[in-house]
Amino acid sequence: MTAVCTKCGGLHGQYDRVCPACGALPSGDGLLVAWLLSSENLSDEAMARVSDRIRSGEVIQPSERQLRQARVALGSHLSSDPGMTFGQRVGLLLTSLFLTPLVGWALWVGWRRSRPRAALEALALSLPASVMFFLLIPIAGYTWNLFAS
Ligand SMILES: [Zn+2]
Repeated sequence: MTAVCTKCGGLHGQYDRVCPACGALPSGDGLLVAWLLSSENLSDEAMARVSDRIRSGEVIQPSERQLRQARVALGSHLSSDPGMTFGQRVGLLLTSLFLTPLVGWALWVGWRRSRPRAALEALALSLPASVMFFLLIPIAGYTWNLFAS
């Protein structure tokens, strides 16, 4: 396999390894771009052209469709999605606990395809809160009513 480094445009052996020329290691969506620019998808000629474009300072930005194609082909949805940031997780947890756990479910629906890892995290974070919200609160209400009447 040959791959074009998405950072320096140098050619090297593996799209998912450190570039020997500049030390860049693609991750996240960058991994998808790196794969799109490898011999898996491009002819030697096309790779040489892309390499020239990167060397001249151009940032290669594949279309959403190409990125989706890469995600499917790599079959490693989870490993190419960095997931939620720490701030997002804390924010979601607090929102789930104090406002509504539905936010987590909404994020899961929204992210399912494009950001599978983040979607799973959103679901995992809001599940315990959902259980509390939909189970414990009605039980607490019911119990309260028993004693109050
Ligand atoms: Zn490089």
